[in-house]
Amino acid sequence: MKNNRRDFLKTFVASSVALPLISKANFSEKKLGVVLVGLGSYATNNLAPAFANTEFCRLAGIVTGTPAKAEIWKKKYNIPEKNIYNYQNFDEIAKNPDIDVVYVVLPNGMHHEFVLRAAKAGKHVICEKPMAISMKESEEMIAACKAAKVTFSIGYRLHYEPFTNEVMRLAKDKDFGKITFVEASFGFPLRDKKAWRMIPKLSGGGPMMDVGVYAVNAARYATGEEPISVTAQAVKTRPDIYVDGIEETMFWQMKFPSGAISNHTTTYNSGLQRLYVGYENGNLEMSPAFDYGPLKGKTSKGEMKFPIVHHQTLMLDGICGDIINNRPMRTPGEEGLKDMKITAAVFEAVKTGKEVKLS
Ligand code: NAD
Repeated sequence: MKNNRRDFLKTFVASSVALPLISKANFSEKKLGVVLVGLGSYATNNLAPAFANTEFCRLAGIVTGTPAKAEIWKKKYNIPEKNIYNYQNFDEIAKNPDIDVVYVVLPNGMHHEFVLRAAKAGKHVICEKPMAISMKESEEMIAACKAAKVTFSIGYRLHYEPFTNEVMRLAKDKDFGKITFVEASFGFPLRDKKAWRMIPKLSGGGPMMDVGVYAVNAARYATGEEPISVTAQAVKTRPDIYVDGIEETMFWQMKFPSGAISNHTTTYNSGLQRLYVGYENGNLEMSPAFDYGPLKGKTSKGEMKFPIVHHQTLMLDGICGDIINNRPMRTPGEEGLKDMKITAAVFEAVKTGKEVKLS
């Protein structure tokens, strides 16, 4: 079963994502070497295993502040000593030809520093969502990668998987007519209240910065539009735990140029994960809509049937295939910046109690 799935995934990756887009003439046999910066939960459980099936990249190195982790990863993934760095000597990576791409998987508040250092080292960069904890940081990260002439992608894995691509296609092809309404909400019960997610300097906020960005991004890809205004509300049932700068639950609403409207919730209070799109002549409903999969959904025409894929494998191959072939990034820093602009407006709307205009 495992092998079948792996073979299938390889075929799927090759046939529907990579090969039709890659010309033989410029296909490089070399797999890009990726270094993971920060070996926490997402890097350990989701990104590292993804390399088992990647065609265009390989796990070449690691950056960690914990020597014991380095030992484990070195053995498990056969990583040479010379490709193991810590946060202090990380800049020496500039001299390492084994490393083509730096993937920053650190707490949100550290993304800015490490993206700037990776760009300065002349490496292509992938950065986890949210790209940073402010618009200013985000703009500086984009500028730094441009100045260094390296590519910059945000790890928006859903943009590389088929259910989300169908939501995007429906926004473009309008099978069910105009989009009138979107509901996109994502929350989970945060158990570890001592985690960096609860420290404003490291997280930049609570669930809004953590998983709320998925809902913001979904409203944009489900409509194919940029919102023109935002209203928002925040509720704290436990102000003793959720200190200043860390919200507990947020609700927000957006208006779009076409007249479509959206409604959203993000919370650390409850498991919640759905996307609803209302069209003139039908609707789409997905739940789970944002997880690692399998995603599930239906439209007015019936069940959404797409292959079960490994999001991180498709994303790594998508980004690295694009780098190899000199194609534009599909989830560039600018895509992250658009979401950062909206999240900033959501926070402002909560603070002022007023509708915040975006354009
Ligand atoms: P985590 O807490 O599991 O890992 C964070 C890592 O950073 C740890 O290895 C930790 O040792 C290291 N670190 C270095 N300096 C630190 C400091 N000062 N304080 C705390 N940790 C420090 O977190 P995670 O869930 O792996 O999240 C990492 C990033 O990945 C975040 O930006 C998060 O939003 C993102 N993420 C993305 C997805 C996705 O599906 N795209 C899923 C989970 C997390």
